[in-house]
Amino acid sequence: MNKIFIKIITKLLIFALCSFFVGLFFSIIYGLLLFIFLLILYVYNQTYYLISLDNWLNQPSQHTVPIGNNLWEPTFSKLYQFHKNIVKTKRDLGLALDQFILGAQALPDGVLSLDQSNHILWANKKIQRMLGIKIPDDLNKPITYIFRDTKLLDLIDANDNKKSISIIIDDNKYQINLIEFGAENKLLICRNINNEEKSEAIRKRFISDVSHELKTPLTVIMGNSELMLNADIEQKQQKILLNATLDQAQRMNTLIADLISLNRVDTTKTILRDKKVMVTDLKNQILSSLSSLRLKKDISFEFNIDSKKNILGSFSEVYSALENLVSNAFRYSDKGSISINWSIIKGQGVLSVTDSGIGISKEHLTKITDRFYRVDTDRSRNSGGTGLGLAIVKNIMDHHNGSIDIKSDVSKGSTFSLVFPKERVL
Ligand code: ADP
Repeated sequence: MNKIFIKIITKLLIFALCSFFVGLFFSIIYGLLLFIFLLILYVYNQTYYLISLDNWLNQPSQHTVPIGNNLWEPTFSKLYQFHKNIVKTKRDLGLALDQFILGAQALPDGVLSLDQSNHILWANKKIQRMLGIKIPDDLNKPITYIFRDTKLLDLIDANDNKKSISIIIDDNKYQINLIEFGAENKLLICRNINNEEKSEAIRKRFISDVSHELKTPLTVIMGNSELMLNADIEQKQQKILLNATLDQAQRMNTLIADLISLNRVDTTKTILRDKKVMVTDLKNQILSSLSSLRLKKDISFEFNIDSKKNILGSFSEVYSALENLVSNAFRYSDKGSISINWSIIKGQGVLSVTDSGIGISKEHLTKITDRFYRVDTDRSRNSGGTGLGLAIVKNIMDHHNGSIDIKSDVSKGSTFSLVFPKERVL
């Protein structure tokens, strides 16, 4: 039998017993009056606790759970535990939801969830920007009202997880997929595919450029070899053909070395770029390689060090960047002077190479660090250029969180500066 029921019956029995004895010793009327009085008192007491419970239920809080007497105490204590659990579950769910929202906001793609009637339930910030949706204003509104696109309507109607559409908004190309989940709810995933298409185009152009660069010397080598094999040619002529073949082989060799160098910078981890690179060591090494760079040209050369500070980075990479710039300065100058300067400007380390050579006109400046971009292809090839030197330099500077600054005047000369950020100057 229920405990509360037993307690009520016991209490009523006690009231009846007390009234019975009063009736027995005094008079029946007194006994009856006492029983009625005790019953009223009991009902009043229970009503008080019922009102307390009702008040609490209107504004439940862990701190205001009513304190009950013998009969109500277990009920109120259970209520207290129950409410405590609800508060904890709510808090846990809130935390889980916060984590989910944080995760969804951090996704590289735009995400939006729809109910069975395609009303917006939730959207992360990325998709709000992509599709021009405003949260909370657009919550619970049909997506098709806010974003009117026939392709999107078709996608929603098709209800096919594997189907995707691409749409263009403000020059941006997006790919949209629809995934069904739960009770007919849907998740709309929106991805910006501009960069993917761009990098695919860059990759294709790079492969085509490399093939073209390799094909030209190979054609010469094959042609010369066939000539030497088939024809009865004089020794003098043979020597000319052999020299031309060797030139082309050397050109291929330089190109492959540059490609390897470009790839090495990309694949080497940043951890290797935390050594002290002494500017005096750079100077000594550049000076010792100068004879091969000068190529019998009447060009004066100087290396000025204005600051005792040095560079935090990779010696071989910084040297390679500097050597590329010095080699260009010699290749694109016929006479005059070349100077290297190391100085600190506004806290940044600046290693610049200035020449008084042919210079570059403005329209080329933004493009000359692109792979295989040349202002004058013949001059570049004839001087042993591959069109990859400045791309390597830019790559090295990117990996040192720095930049390459170019100033140039046609027929007057150029200054190429390697700019290292403050945190790489020591
Ligand atoms: P390349 O092997 O052709 O020299 P780079 O990437 O080193 O390739 O340079 C790209 C182009 O920039 C060169 O083909 C050349 O036209 C131009 N260039 C680079 N350095 C200089 C310079 N110091 N003076 C004039 N033109 C330069």
